[in-house]
Amino acid sequence: MGWSRAYHFNSDEYISINDAMEMRTGKDPRVGDLWCHKTCFNAKIGAQLLTRQQGSDGRKACFAKWPGRYEQSGQYCGQKLLSDSKRESMDYAYFYTEFDKYLNGIEKNKEPFFIKRISKPSENNIHDFNIYHTNEISEMFTETELVILDENKRKIKKYVETKIVEGKKGRIVIKISEYTPAQLTDFARGGIDKFKKEWEFLQQQKKNELKRIKKALEEEEEAEAAVVRSVAKEKAATEERAAEEKKAAAIRKKNAAAKEKKYEEFLAEEKKAAATRKKNAAAKEKADEEERREKIEVFKLVDNNQVDANIGPEKMKEIAEKCEYTDRLHIYYYLFINYGPGYIGNLFE
Ligand SMILES: [Zn+2]
Repeated sequence: MGWSRAYHFNSDEYISINDAMEMRTGKDPRVGDLWCHKTCFNAKIGAQLLTRQQGSDGRKACFAKWPGRYEQSGQYCGQKLLSDSKRESMDYAYFYTEFDKYLNGIEKNKEPFFIKRISKPSENNIHDFNIYHTNEISEMFTETELVILDENKRKIKKYVETKIVEGKKGRIVIKISEYTPAQLTDFARGGIDKFKKEWEFLQQQKKNELKRIKKALEEEEEAEAAVVRSVAKEKAATEERAAEEKKAAAIRKKNAAAKEKKYEEFLAEEKKAAATRKKNAAAKEKADEEERREKIEVFKLVDNNQVDANIGPEKMKEIAEKCEYTDRLHIYYYLFINYGPGYIGNLFE
């Protein structure tokens, strides 16, 4: 848990361990007056540091603490206490204090974060900051956790990546363990820019989520509307079928009535025809009877060769034409004998 960054009094600048190692001359380990922090140096509560080169066991080069007088006096670097209490590195402590300054320095309720207030959880092994947002973005986020990860294994295990934790709570993870010493001194890039990028990502995630929810709702509404439409369509179809059925029934009724009427007419005509037939049959029978009677009378005259004033030769000839050949022959003979050849018709017709 050494330092990657130190305050170099001689240049009055913060330098990385790489910069410090480059300042060494040969095997001479001296690089200048190195301290944990400028503020600690000024308040005389800091730790003086030395450079430690990369170990043969692969341990990275770092700044390390001299046996410190401030530590013994009980006055000691706040960041050292912070890193110890959080089971973290001094690099973590640097990012933590820088984030503390940065977040609290942002104007409240302004783009892009719309900060209401910042709090720092006192428990260890959990996230480092709570950022509460104003109502301006309450539809998306009300709270965002900020986690800085370097060496604390429990935190590394628990906080993997930037994501939406639940509902309107987001989480931004800044992992500095892969930063080089030079990068660890660049809070503007490794801290602020990274934080802004992660916030953009979080917002995009939320927008996508809201879009998905909206789409799902729209789809649900559309499905409901489709059901309503389908029911209405079904109802309309049923009504149409009923109307058609009614129309068809009316037509059937009308046709049946027409058929009934036609049948009645047929019956009436048939009755009339039957009456006519009966009348005709009666008339024919009467005529036949009359003819038979006349024939009998004629044959009586013919058989006895008598002349009757009531049945003249014209009438006799008329009856003869209605008779069979032999009878006709007899009547013609009779007419010839009694009235001469003038009344004989064609024998062979
Ligand atoms: Zn310090």
